[in-house]
Amino acid sequence: MHTDLSLYKHHIPMHAAGTFYKSSGLIKPKRLPGYLFGGISLAVLIGWLFFKLCDFLSFVYLNFILLFGVLLLSIIAYTSLRMYSRSRHHVLNIFLSIIFCYVAWSAQWSFFSMQWNYGFSFLEGTFNPGATLQIITRRMVQIDTEHLNRTAGRFPFSGGLAALFYLVEFIGFMLPVAYLWEDRQYYCEGCDKFYERKEAYVTATDHFLTHLGEEGDNRQYRFLPLIQFYGKLAPIYKRKREVIKVTVHYCPKCLDNNIISVSTFEQQPDDDNRNNATLTKEIAITEGMYIEKVMAEIIIRKFA
Ligand SMILES: [Zn+2]
Repeated sequence: MHTDLSLYKHHIPMHAAGTFYKSSGLIKPKRLPGYLFGGISLAVLIGWLFFKLCDFLSFVYLNFILLFGVLLLSIIAYTSLRMYSRSRHHVLNIFLSIIFCYVAWSAQWSFFSMQWNYGFSFLEGTFNPGATLQIITRRMVQIDTEHLNRTAGRFPFSGGLAALFYLVEFIGFMLPVAYLWEDRQYYCEGCDKFYERKEAYVTATDHFLTHLGEEGDNRQYRFLPLIQFYGKLAPIYKRKREVIKVTVHYCPKCLDNNIISVSTFEQQPDDDNRNNATLTKEIAITEGMYIEKVMAEIIIRKFA
């Protein structure tokens, strides 16, 4: 039983099993400045790191590895910041993700222009797209000139090819937006907390799907207690197989309004003997649906 009276003060709405989670769209105004300026600062830092490392390595193909680093770092940084902000406003979250990714990209060009004295201030080079474009154009002309003259022999490629690299670079910097597009975390409005999650796998997929089929249109996964779950998938050899992943999302504080997501996957054979289970081809069966509290409690215990 709840002993925390503050829970009742907030009037937590109980969501009926079978209905779907919908984000409230609320934000924490006090955390908005931290979200915005924290994100821009992290973006500038990521841009600076990329610029410094590219400058240090100065071998163009390594830049692609660095670009992958930018991708990972951006996702970690902006996801953490979104958690901090507790923003449930989808459009705001996407908008800020785009801004942060763009600023990381434009900042590295701005640092570049400062190093080579292109005549733009840091703020101009970063926040004025026209200035950023001029920096890139000047750089391409510079590469073309040196390429044609072959004076220093520094550029084995033309400005046009460089432009292609820069385009890939831009895409690499913006790619985290695709990941950040989804709000992956559910939020308990009553407790002011993000949900936690537990997941487990089903290998007897026919059994599972038969039960699901028997529930008809009114699927609420009441059969879950009958299912055998595995916390970790054993690697398989030779042939691929179908597996089902069940994720239960729950508020660690109140444990009301539990949410389930179910997908099928193809588990690939572990050909390299790396003892892992690679899952591909996800097909979502149910995403973000409330289930009965009793059912959730049973599977949370089973998943532990
Ligand atoms: Zn809660």
